[in-house]
Order: sequence, then C-alpha cells, then structure tokens
Amino acid sequence: MAGTSLRGRVAVVTGSTSGIGYGVAEALAAEGAAIMLNGFGDAAAIEALRAGLAATYGVTVGYNAADMSKPAEIAGLIEAAARELGGVHVLVNNAGIQFTAPIQSFPTDKWDAVIAINLSAAFHAMQAAIPVMKQAGWGRIINIASAHGLVASAQKSAYVAAKHGLVGLTKVAAIELANDGITCNAICPGWVLTPLVAAQIAARATQEGRPETDVRHDLLAEKQPMLAFTTPAQIGALAVFLCSDAAATMTGAPLSIDGGWVAG
Ligand code: NAD
Repeated sequence: MAGTSLRGRVAVVTGSTSGIGYGVAEALAAEGAAIMLNGFGDAAAIEALRAGLAATYGVTVGYNAADMSKPAEIAGLIEAAARELGGVHVLVNNAGIQFTAPIQSFPTDKWDAVIAINLSAAFHAMQAAIPVMKQAGWGRIINIASAHGLVASAQKSAYVAAKHGLVGLTKVAAIELANDGITCNAICPGWVLTPLVAAQIAARATQEGRPETDVRHDLLAEKQPMLAFTTPAQIGALAVFLCSDAAATMTGAPLSIDGGWVAG
C-alpha cells in the first residue's frame, strides 16, 4: 500500500521502463503518486511493470510510448498524462543514452541522438509541462543529469555536453519559475549499476579480455573514492525528498549522489 505524501499528484517519468527511471517511478508510486511510465522495451514486459506498480502501491499507472528524440511525441506524452491522469505535477527527465568514441571519430548521428534524448527532450518536456504545472500552482521538475554534468571524462563528448547543458537548463528554469510554486533541480549520480552501465562493463571486459567483476571494480576505482554503486532506489528517495515540503525552497541545484566522484 502506498504512502501518502504524493497522493493526488501525477508524475511523468521519462525512460522509466528500466534502471534509474523505474527506480524513481517506484519511489514516487510508493508515496501515492499516479505515474505515467515511458520508455522502450518489450510490450508484454512493460505491461507487467505497469500492472505490478499499480497493484503493489494502489496507484494509477499509465504508459506512453513517446520517443524522446521526437518533440511532437514528447508534447503528446505530457498531454496524455494531463488528460488521462489529471495533471502533471512532477516531471522527471530521465531518458538517456550513451555513446563513447574520441571526438575526432565520434559519429555525427550518435552526437545528434545523444543531444536530442539527453538534453533537448528535457527542454521540450518542460515547455509542454510548465503551463500545466502553473495551472495547478505547484510543480517539481527533476532532471537526471550525472557527475558528467559537472566534470568530464574522455570519449564522452556528446554525453558530457548534454549533461552540462541539462544542469544549465535546470538553473534557467529555477530562475524563471522561482515564484510559481515550481522548483527545478538536477540529480547528478555517479555509477549506478543499470543496463546502461552493464553494457559499458560488458564491452570493456570483452575488449580487455578480463572478467566483468574486475572491470566493475576498476570502473568504480577510477572515478569514485567510495567503491560502491548508487542504487536506483536511492535516486528515487532523493526525488521523493525533492517533492517534499522540506525541499520547497531548493531550486536550481545540481545534487551529487556519486560516492565522492566530484569531490576530488
Ligand atoms: P537505462 O538504459 O537502464 O534506461 C534508460 C531508459 O531510457 C530506458 O527506459 C529506455 O527505454 C529509455 N529510453 C532510451 N531512449 C529513449 C527514447 N528515445 N525515448 C524514450 N525512452 C528512451 O539507463 P539508466 O542508467 O537507468 O539511465 C537513466 C538516466 O540516468 C540517463 O539519463 C543517464 O544518463 C543517467 N545516469 C545514469 C548513470 C548510471 O551510472 N547508470 C549515472 C549518471 C546518470
């Protein structure tokens, strides 16, 4: 049965069929929010996720298949949430992809896709959701950025540019919406062991001919003083906090949850 702190609120979580997005959707559902799921995947598996969340937490859960690289579909996602669930009080811009290569050989189509999904999608979703939030006089925009929104790594030009851009967009929204009852913050995780990172570990293990457990350790040790992955549930708990009254004046902040990654 769900908690009550977000009862009556509607949350749209982009890219919530997997990983961090699903963890955030579950945490918001556990506080009583109605949820609009979004993301790619097998239709039967997505329906099982949707029905499972609804049954476990006793909340309404919808699903919209919008491709976050397409502005018209993003507008449709927000419109569907408002129409089917009765509003958009919480918008979590989470959908994201990764591609690694040096700048000199980074494929243009991959650059365009990473910027579209990790940065422009958040702009389009905010543009559609802000009028709905203003009408309700309350809103929480949570952008899932990254430690790579604050510092760089080699081979990740598009991702680092998109995440730095997302942190900048977060600050602009915070200023513009400061007196509308709407906050906008960015969560900047370090390593979270999701399918996105599992793919990077598997690729590196194959490339280096080493066991995945060793690569996993190295991945952490290269970036984080703390040799532990953050979990999607921990990111979800931070999102719930940002929706609480305690966080009503927190806005425009990039919030690190990264095992000390950017402290060094
Ligand atoms: P993931 O691959 O597990 O999940 C990504 C989700 O986005 C999936 O639901 C996928 O279907 C969806 N998605 C991808 N392209 C889409 C599109 N065009 N339209 C709609 N949905 C789309 O990845 P994750 O690790 O959970 O990452 C989620 C977010 O967290 C990303 O923005 C990522 O950059 C960020 N992040 C991840 C880590 C990490 O270590 N995993 C660290 C920092 C930030």
